[in-house]
Amino acid sequence: MEPQRILGVTGSPICRSDDRTTREGKSKLSLSDEPVYLDNHATTRVDPRVVSVMLPFFQTVYGNAHSTGHGFGQRAREAVEAARNRIAQSVGAHTSDEIVFTSGATESNNLAIQGIALRPRLKGRHIISVQTEHRALLDPLARCQRNGFEVTLLPPRQHPSRDAGRVDVDQLRETLRDDTVLVSVMWANNEIGVIQPISDIARLCRERGVLFHTDATQALGKANIDFTQIDVDLASFSAHKLHGPKGVGALYVRQSPRRTRLIPLLEGGGQEQGFRSGTLNVPGIVGFGRAVELALDELPTEITRTRSLRDRLYQGIIAADETIALNGPALNDPELRLANNLNLCFGDCQGDAMMLAMPQVAVSSGSACTSVNPEPSHVLQAIGRDVDKARSSLRFGLGRFNDERDIEIAVHAITSALAKLRKLAK
Ligand code: PMP
Repeated sequence: MEPQRILGVTGSPICRSDDRTTREGKSKLSLSDEPVYLDNHATTRVDPRVVSVMLPFFQTVYGNAHSTGHGFGQRAREAVEAARNRIAQSVGAHTSDEIVFTSGATESNNLAIQGIALRPRLKGRHIISVQTEHRALLDPLARCQRNGFEVTLLPPRQHPSRDAGRVDVDQLRETLRDDTVLVSVMWANNEIGVIQPISDIARLCRERGVLFHTDATQALGKANIDFTQIDVDLASFSAHKLHGPKGVGALYVRQSPRRTRLIPLLEGGGQEQGFRSGTLNVPGIVGFGRAVELALDELPTEITRTRSLRDRLYQGIIAADETIALNGPALNDPELRLANNLNLCFGDCQGDAMMLAMPQVAVSSGSACTSVNPEPSHVLQAIGRDVDKARSSLRFGLGRFNDERDIEIAVHAITSALAKLRKLAK
């Protein structure tokens, strides 16, 4: 077969050469000269075990899940409900109805924030969130502000404290007002991997009778999420961050012991209990269910494995140059930082120049979702990094398909790129 030509990060063609089998017998496309993929916070490769359960829903079970008058529709419906149940169970939802399927976390965040803000008879018009949230949360908040809400964005703890990026719960307590209707704090950050004290924040919001939303996009499949223990009202998820397909996600909407009411943003067929009209993406939902199942089955081992790879990556890089600095919270505290995240500041070398100098490694200089507007990271600036330091930083995200060899290649590529750029600068 002709090798398939695809483009590398720098636009140069790279050659798909063979198909290798990795640990646990999973097929891994090993592209001898394909870059090592370390951008798993942006998106992940769909697991072949996910692809295989999706395929029938494109070609044989292609019915509309709401056309239950025939077998095509009934089987599609059953598969959707099985996926919903699986996802609901995995996050400790009381009933599967609390899972509302969407097109991804951007839509889930919009539905959560605007769906609350549009509600009539709210007790006030004050919302609290954090400066380091994703644009898919900050932009709906900005819209609320244009529509007459007051939005307070809390600053996170500053670099270089051990918990840089974390919200100060006492500060949140002092910021809550009688007219605060909603607090939104992401579970884990997509740039610096900081894990927020979600349980404490949820408890505080409950005590004060304020709704609490969390963007858990980077946490699902990476951290334990249990809504029987943590009193969250709304939570956003996306399948493509955990080796599932793109274009499908969910919003958890608590219905017990209290009902969370939302005004839908999309009206039409009244699907998803009226929260989100539109024909369901059956193959995507089936893949999402399987992706969650796999991620949860493998969670404890994957946390240990990716942490060890991440730590090797870090040690390998700083061994070459001790001036390289860590952005975000301490690496050695699992409560503070995602096991698969690393974010480094390369001092005098710009992140974009580093990326060009090491086409063998696919990383990112910020959130992929803001790359249409390539400003230095607002997250790094919010933790106290100046514009130059933010521009000199790179984010590394590890995933299920990375192995030790990837780390070796990456360490070599990164340290060589640094040496090359420094020599050029002299
Ligand atoms: N929130 C966070 C924390 C994210 O990392 C992302 C994806 N970069 C999103 C929201 C948007 O998710 P989606 O791509 O599913 O719309």
